[in-house]
Amino acid sequence: MAKQDFYDVLGVAQNSSADEIKKAYRKKAMQYHPDRNQGDDAAEQKFKEAGEAYDILKDEQKRAAYDQYGHAAFEGNGGGGGGGFGGGGFADIFDEMFGDFSGRQQAGGRASRGSDLRYNLEISLDDAHRGRETRIRVPTSVNCETCSGSGAKKGTQPSTCGTCQGHGKVRASQGFFTIERTCPTCHGEGRVIASPCGDCSGTGAVRKEKTLEVTIPEGVEDGMRIRLSGEGEAGGRGAPPGDLYIFIAVGAHPLFQRDGADIFCAVPIPMTTAALGGSVEVPSIDGSRAKVTIPVGAQSGHRMRLRGKGMSGLHGEGRGDMYIDLQVETPVNLTKEQKAKLQDFQDTLKPTGKGGGKSTSPESEGFFSKAKELWDDLTD
Ligand SMILES: [Zn+2]
Ligand SMILES: [Zn+2]
Repeated sequence: MAKQDFYDVLGVAQNSSADEIKKAYRKKAMQYHPDRNQGDDAAEQKFKEAGEAYDILKDEQKRAAYDQYGHAAFEGNGGGGGGGFGGGGFADIFDEMFGDFSGRQQAGGRASRGSDLRYNLEISLDDAHRGRETRIRVPTSVNCETCSGSGAKKGTQPSTCGTCQGHGKVRASQGFFTIERTCPTCHGEGRVIASPCGDCSGTGAVRKEKTLEVTIPEGVEDGMRIRLSGEGEAGGRGAPPGDLYIFIAVGAHPLFQRDGADIFCAVPIPMTTAALGGSVEVPSIDGSRAKVTIPVGAQSGHRMRLRGKGMSGLHGEGRGDMYIDLQVETPVNLTKEQKAKLQDFQDTLKPTGKGGGKSTSPESEGFFSKAKELWDDLTD
């Protein structure tokens, strides 16, 4: 039976906040708790599934991996196919790598699991909208081909450590105490290599720059992480490799600001267009142009919505909206003639109120009449 989607298990949307997920989990856990449903196998199953789903979705890192690869992300081989070695045209922005940031160790294994790696990838807002395939080059350690990662010279095998008989630990009695410590001969691995492989000096791993193909999903957001399972550093002597985490940073855009799936754009318009109405063309994130009608008497800060012109949603959710914030631009660098015309215009303005008709500047007149009341009150 196919495993149920974790979001469906908790009955939440994929874009739910951490808080919503927590609430949904609590509700399910209460509903299906074994104490309340004694002998009900179906309820017990649901209780377990909710726990499993919450375990992944409450962890930002695991959730990002799940969003990207689904259940496969946690089945030991989470996709992100390893490309061949060779030149990638991508700028080398490898920033830092650090070992073992998850602090995990393979349960039961003596040889330690390889370190996780972090790769910082900066992409443009356009790329975040469209999604893209990219190649990254990661300096890492990979299994030594000569010895297939065993560390032993070709044709030889690692042998069981004589000091600890393969247990990896030795015990020593001191008075009343028995102290168990890591075997000093094999460093806990339980095996020793009599003739080490020359290419990797017996470690089973060599340094190499790996080229990987990475799929950046549409609608990805700043700070999201993509996990490439098994693409971290090689583990010691045949132990499983670590994972590679790609940290996405979305760069600033010269015209657009983003908030989730929505895009905001401040559009300056000439004073005359604002007063008389008209239309302007604005660019949108998908490269198309959108014609926007400016209403007569538009003010700075007037917001207009272009439905469905925002960012692609994650997981194929619908597109967000684009919001245009008008900014009326006061004319500058006027010629003498233009100034004279504006002065003429100003002279046509009649005092409002007593039979003067509708105000041409109701906002400023309202402000200054209130200010006058304030001053009058103060002089009373
Ligand atoms: Zn080797
Ligand atoms: Zn040993």
